[in-house]
Amino acid sequence: MSGKTVISMKIQVYNSTIQLVQGDITKQSVDAIVNAANSALAGGGGVDGAIHDAAGPLIMEETAQKYPEGCPTGEAVITAAGDLTAKFIIHTVGPVWGGGVRGEADLLKNAYSNSLKLAVEHHCESVAFPAISTGVYGYPIDLAAKQSLRSVADFLREHESSLRVSFVLFDNGSFGAYSNALEELSKMSTDW
Ligand code: ADP
Repeated sequence: MSGKTVISMKIQVYNSTIQLVQGDITKQSVDAIVNAANSALAGGGGVDGAIHDAAGPLIMEETAQKYPEGCPTGEAVITAAGDLTAKFIIHTVGPVWGGGVRGEADLLKNAYSNSLKLAVEHHCESVAFPAISTGVYGYPIDLAAKQSLRSVADFLREHESSLRVSFVLFDNGSFGAYSNALEELSKMSTDW
């Protein structure tokens, strides 16, 4: 990754847009950045580590104080964004891939929709998501891409939201997988 941001497809879903970006999520100018957290909200590597490093130590203090029980898989919680330019960090927990027979698709959908629900409740106009569950949690990238995009589009349609949603993909492989899935889904659905 060179650190530059590449933007590809952008689609309209009612009053909202979904856009794919290749880059670092901590560098995005949006109201809310979504973190792929673990259920203990204990911090970690990957995108979680990058977000906490960029936001500063107050965020971990806030999650420990407000959400001492952590956050179950598929749920989401919200904090301030510390040193990031965003207003909020939404911490959600995606499923660990277990072969696709443990409700992973529903849990991934819930992670996206519960994050979007919090964004709407906090009057956000723009939200950036990473590719939740596709790193250490092992969700196959092509399946995750399809399910993630569909979940966000369903939410935007069902809630008639007015949001700018971006997926910030860190590497070429993820960016390619999400681009293919978005193209395929936009061809299949007449609503898009
Ligand atoms: P999970 O535990 O949910 O799988 P990971 O952090 O391991 O979460 O990975 C999720 C995705 O986030 C992976 O595709 C990884 O490449 C990506 N990622 C890692 N760092 C960043 C970053 N700074 N910005 C955007 N995406 C990132």
